[in-house]
Amino acid sequence: MTKYIFVTGGVLSSLGKGITSASIATLLQHSGFKVSMVKIDPYINVDPGTMSPFEHGEVFVTEDGAETDLDIGNYERFLNKNLGKKNNFTTGQIYLSVIEKERRGDYLGKTVQIIPHITDEIKKRIKDVAKDVDIVVVELGGTVGDIEGLPFLEAVRQIKHEVGKNNAMFVHVTLIPYIKAAGELKTKPTQHSVQELRRIGITPHMIVARTEKPLPKSLKEKLADSCDVERDAVIEAVDAPTVYQVPLNFLNQDILKPIARQLDLGELHPDMSEWNYLVKKIISPQKEVKIAFVGKYLQLKESYKSLIEALIHSGAHLDMKVNIEWVDSEKIEKMNDEELKEVFSEVSGILVPGGFGERGVEGKLKAIRYARENRVPYLGICLGMQLAVIEFARNVLGLKYANSQEFDPDTSEPVVYLIDEFIDASGQKQIRTHKSPLGGTMRLGGYECLIKPDTKLYEAYKTDKVIERHRHRYEVNSAYEKALEENGMIISGKSKEGLIEAVELKDHPWFVGVQFHPEFTNKLKTPNRVIMSFVENAYKNK
Ligand code: GLN
Repeated sequence: MTKYIFVTGGVLSSLGKGITSASIATLLQHSGFKVSMVKIDPYINVDPGTMSPFEHGEVFVTEDGAETDLDIGNYERFLNKNLGKKNNFTTGQIYLSVIEKERRGDYLGKTVQIIPHITDEIKKRIKDVAKDVDIVVVELGGTVGDIEGLPFLEAVRQIKHEVGKNNAMFVHVTLIPYIKAAGELKTKPTQHSVQELRRIGITPHMIVARTEKPLPKSLKEKLADSCDVERDAVIEAVDAPTVYQVPLNFLNQDILKPIARQLDLGELHPDMSEWNYLVKKIISPQKEVKIAFVGKYLQLKESYKSLIEALIHSGAHLDMKVNIEWVDSEKIEKMNDEELKEVFSEVSGILVPGGFGERGVEGKLKAIRYARENRVPYLGICLGMQLAVIEFARNVLGLKYANSQEFDPDTSEPVVYLIDEFIDASGQKQIRTHKSPLGGTMRLGGYECLIKPDTKLYEAYKTDKVIERHRHRYEVNSAYEKALEENGMIISGKSKEGLIEAVELKDHPWFVGVQFHPEFTNKLKTPNRVIMSFVENAYKNK
C-alpha cells in the first residue's frame, strides 16, 4: 500500500515548503524507499508557461515536455530522478479536464460540482502518481485559509479517509516569527493556522517551524501541546547556508522517527554520506572562480533558478565556489569598449542564458563579442546560443543585417528563424507560424542531440548522443551552416532531423552554444556535463 505525506503551508507563503517536501522525500529515498512527489498549484493558468518570469520565477521543463512550477526542478535535483507531466498540476488543468468531460457527456444526467467532481479529479491525479511508488510526498501550493486551496484540502482529507490512518500523514510548514521589540518568538499565528486546518477536518501530525532563531525546548513543547502533535514531531527549520543542508538538519532532529511511527515504516537508517560530502563541498570549497551572468531578469533571480543551482552543483563536484557577477544586459548596451572591459576583466567566464523578446539583446551580443574576441570561456544557452550565431554572422561573416525572426520577422538575413513544421517529443507533427497561440506551442522537452566527435561538446559529455530539454520557438537556419563552418564556427550537435543543436568556435579556448537547456537535466548528484565543463574551463582560464 502506498503511503502519502501531504505538506501544507500556514501563515504566509515563501516558507520553503518545496524544500521541506523535497528534504523529507530525500531522506525517505535514502532509507531505501521508492519515492515520488506531486506539486499542486492553486492558480487557474493551465501551466506556468505563459506567466512572466517576474511574476512566477522560472518555468521548469520536464523530460516529457511539460512546463511546470519551479518546485519540480527542486524535486528532481534532490531526488536525482526525472519527473514528468503528472507530477505537477494546477486548478486550471483540473477544471479544464472536468469541463471537457462534461462537454463530452461523461457526466450525463448529473449536476457537475466541486464536490465530488473536482475533488475526484484531484484524487485521481494524486493516486496516479502513487501507483508505482512506496511513498508519495504531495506539496499543496498556497497557504491554508486561501479560498482557492479548499478543493485540494478536501480531496486530500478524503484520501486520508480512504487509505486509512497509517497510510497518510499531514505535515504543516509554518512560521514562528521573532518579534524584536518583545524579544520573543511567537507561536500564535501557527496555532491559528492549525485551527483553520482542523476546521476542515485535517489534523497535522507534524509541525515544521520556519524560524530565524533556534526554538528553545520549552517553546517546542508549547507548540506540540497547543497544536496537538507529539513532542518529537515539532521540527525546527532555521535558515540554512544551502538548501541541501536542510535534509541533514531534519535528520539531526530525528525527523524520521515520528514519520516512521505515523506511517508504520519500521526503523529507518538513511545513508546520507555522499550527500553530506557534497554539502560540505558547497559550504567550504578549496577553489574559487567568477563568472559573468548576463541576463535581463536580474531583479528576480528565481527566474534562473535551475541554472544557478547547476553552477552550485558543478562547484560541489569540482571543489569550487562559483561566484556569479550579475550583469544587466540592458545596462551594457550603451557601453564603449573601455567600459565593457571594466565589467568583464575580472571574470573567468561569460554566460548568456535563455530568454525571450528583444529587450537586452544588443547588450548580450556585446558580451558575446567580448568573449569571442578576448578568448574568454563562453557558454550560451538557447537564446545565448542563437545570439552567438547572430554575433558571428554579423561580425565575422560580415552579414550586417543578420538577425532572428523573433526580433525582426522581415529580416533579410534570417540566421535564426521560425521553422513551420517539426516532430515533437511524442513523435507527432507540429505546425507553427507567427500567428500560433503562445501557450504550449514551443519545442518542449527532451530531444536527442547527436554530438560530433573531437569537439568541446564531446569532450564535455564523453558520448555521441545525449537527451537534453528544450523550450524555444526559433532555430538556427541551416542555410547558413556552410558559411558558418567555413569561417571557423563548428556545428557540434544536431538533432536526428538535422536541426542545429550546438555550435562552438574552432580557435577559442572554450566557446560553446547549445540550443537546449542543460540546466534542466542537472542534479546535485549528477551535475550537467556541459555546464561543469564550462566552469572547469573558466577556472583554467583564471
Ligand atoms: N526566444 C528564443 C526562442 O524562442 C529562445 C528561447 C530560450 O532561450 N528559451 O527560440
